[in-house]
Amino acid sequence: MNQTPVRVRIAPSPTGYLHVGTARTAIANYLFARHYGGRFLIRIEDTDVERSRSELIEPILEALKWLGLDWDEEILYQSQRTEIYNKYVQQLIDTGYAYCSYVTAEELEAARQKALAEKRSFYYRENFIQLPPEEIQRRIDAGAGYAVRLRIPEGETSFDDLVSGRISKKNEDIEDLIIARSDGTPTYNLAVVVDDHEMGITHIIRGNDHISNTFKQMHIYRALDLKIPEFGHVPLILRPDKRKVSKRLGDKDVAEYKKEGILPETMFNYLCLLGWSPKNDREIYTREELIELFDKNNFNSANAVFDEEKLLAFNHAHIQMKSDHELAVMVAPLLVDAGLTTKYWLETRWTYLRQVVAVLKERVKRLSDFVAIGGYFFSFDYKYDEQAAQKHFHPEAAGLLSELADRFEKLETFDKVSIEATLSELADEKGLKKAMLIHPTRLAVSGVSAGPGLYDLLEVLSQPVVVERMRKAVAFINRPG
Ligand code: GLU
Repeated sequence: MNQTPVRVRIAPSPTGYLHVGTARTAIANYLFARHYGGRFLIRIEDTDVERSRSELIEPILEALKWLGLDWDEEILYQSQRTEIYNKYVQQLIDTGYAYCSYVTAEELEAARQKALAEKRSFYYRENFIQLPPEEIQRRIDAGAGYAVRLRIPEGETSFDDLVSGRISKKNEDIEDLIIARSDGTPTYNLAVVVDDHEMGITHIIRGNDHISNTFKQMHIYRALDLKIPEFGHVPLILRPDKRKVSKRLGDKDVAEYKKEGILPETMFNYLCLLGWSPKNDREIYTREELIELFDKNNFNSANAVFDEEKLLAFNHAHIQMKSDHELAVMVAPLLVDAGLTTKYWLETRWTYLRQVVAVLKERVKRLSDFVAIGGYFFSFDYKYDEQAAQKHFHPEAAGLLSELADRFEKLETFDKVSIEATLSELADEKGLKKAMLIHPTRLAVSGVSAGPGLYDLLEVLSQPVVVERMRKAVAFINRPG
């Protein structure tokens, strides 16, 4: 590691949401900064934005905050920096590294078509279309705009990529790139180099779809006589069918995962491992562990597959790492939103909510699952699963439930030990397997045939609720008709 303190950045375009790919790159940069004691910065590449900026930028910043990616300095907005870019463009013209081109779009297109027809590649050079000096003057006098292009020298351009090692490209395959358009606006590549230089960026970690830009940008750095940062191009994110994640195919907004009940810690952990590996078999890490383990030499060079099933498995693991209190805080608003309870009811029964969360969490992959599988903890208004009722609510079960409810009602302490002892005793007396009591009881108190361990479940629901629900089930089984 060189002596200069690490400064890295994420440079999202204002699209209105944080793409999974951008989030992954942001996490890689964040870990880079935090591990090496550097700074993590944000730049908004908003030169082309027509719609209101804040509506397109705010959701991105919100999602970055949700992921816990706190940035260290003021956010830089490219739209506020046109004058600065123009100064650098002028410097490149003055030093002869760039030239003004009065060639029109039509002339350029005609030349491109000709090259195509002759099966030549078309990397534009100053001498491709030579306008006589009088014609240039005529165009200047008529107030025609001009593009500014960078002269690409002969030779080859190479760099040592942190992810893929040495990458080279022949300069004949790089056009004299436009650094300012005929309307005077700077181009993407020029602005990026100027900003990365002025922000003091030492390492640029971004998607490998930017490699061709990197070659162009290196020529701008050289022409401006600026120190070239180190680059690392992380591989693309693919879907499980190996197709590239794109706007149409699975490139979801990170905020959607939040809505679906994925924890930010899960997203951070999972996306981090899509581009980088701690080089061992362990997969579940806390943010602090990842910061500690991060090593800039361990980026993955193979394309990464985004697998939602795997994400859910990660989420399950991260949910288990949360305390019951933390989970209760997150689950409470979901229960209220689902209409299962009210804020007031929960506020007065916080211990109950914590117990519910504790017995359910092992079965949960998303926060929303607490609501989906635990509604009966908050509402009496559940239906019995039809198939399960046919199987377990037979006439004999009514008698057993009734007897068990009576015995439960008499218990002085209603905890899982006394509950189990009571149930076992009744089973023994009747010469039945415990399952004959367990299944109808579970169905009676929850409406479903699967859930947490029965004795835990009954203890949490509490004695009066259990007894009432069991008697209600007896009435249901014995209903006329
Ligand atoms: N605005 C670019 C993008 O969203 C960032 C490119 C870069 O990091 O240099 O892909």
